[in-house]
Amino acid sequence: MPSPRNCAWCERPLEDGERLTGRVRCAHCGVANTSPWPTAEELDAAYAGFYRPPGGRFSGPGDRVLRTTRASLARRIDAICPPGRVLDVGAGEGALVQALAARGRAATGLERDARAARIEAREIEEVDGEWAGVVFWHSLEHLPTPGRALDRAAALLARRGVLVVALPNADSLQARAFGDRWLALDLPRHLVHVPARALLERLRAAGLTVERVSHLRGGQVAFGWLHGLVGLLPGAPDLYDAIRRAPARRRPMNASQRAATLAAAAVLAPLAAAAALGEAAARRGGSVYVEARRA
Ligand SMILES: [Zn+2]
Repeated sequence: MPSPRNCAWCERPLEDGERLTGRVRCAHCGVANTSPWPTAEELDAAYAGFYRPPGGRFSGPGDRVLRTTRASLARRIDAICPPGRVLDVGAGEGALVQALAARGRAATGLERDARAARIEAREIEEVDGEWAGVVFWHSLEHLPTPGRALDRAAALLARRGVLVVALPNADSLQARAFGDRWLALDLPRHLVHVPARALLERLRAAGLTVERVSHLRGGQVAFGWLHGLVGLLPGAPDLYDAIRRAPARRRPMNASQRAATLAAAAVLAPLAAAAALGEAAARRGGSVYVEARRA
């Protein structure tokens, strides 16, 4: 497919945008759009197998860690939302929806490939009614019209309802440090690359009050650094592949390559943790987490 003509975030022309490898940065809002824009077939191929193979993505404790962090997110959402149901846009295998349900909170997930209970294969534009909370947990960047999806989510909120968003911060220090090799570019699955300030501006323009911004809670912050640092070593080893089960890897990896990559990661982990804390303190975290409330 050709380069996108209009920005997927602000819908203004991209023609005077800055050309980067695999993306164009909008001159109006600062959001980079993946370019060339993938076709539906290319996206299907990019999501098949690698992204979510049957039997789980991660080896070892990865999938268990995922469930624990979703339970903690569910506790937070349950605490800040008024009574009512919660919509999880881009619900994956439904870990957050299940964690909310376990707390007695009605929840529905949306996902392109709906395989679990309470998950529906619909777009947010097709959803109506009133919702106490709407969540985009690392999903907005996968949507073809993320700006409209955010506006739609704001319109679906009940009085005092909360929009919760986590996404990679294109204006982070790790995005700057690793450039075209930054883990969270994730081309072509990530269609937009959003600086934190563009997200906050859009939420305020939708009439919401931003109540909390965290540069640590959005997850993947230290891992982004660790992946980037390991990737600077000879042979550019891919830590993301090393922690995944073989069918979920981007490139094949033998046992000794995998062991060497994990050993390098263990050595570099303290440095990555320090870098993550540093960028969070500078409000330039690798991902941004926002809670925004309707009046
Ligand atoms: Zn734009």
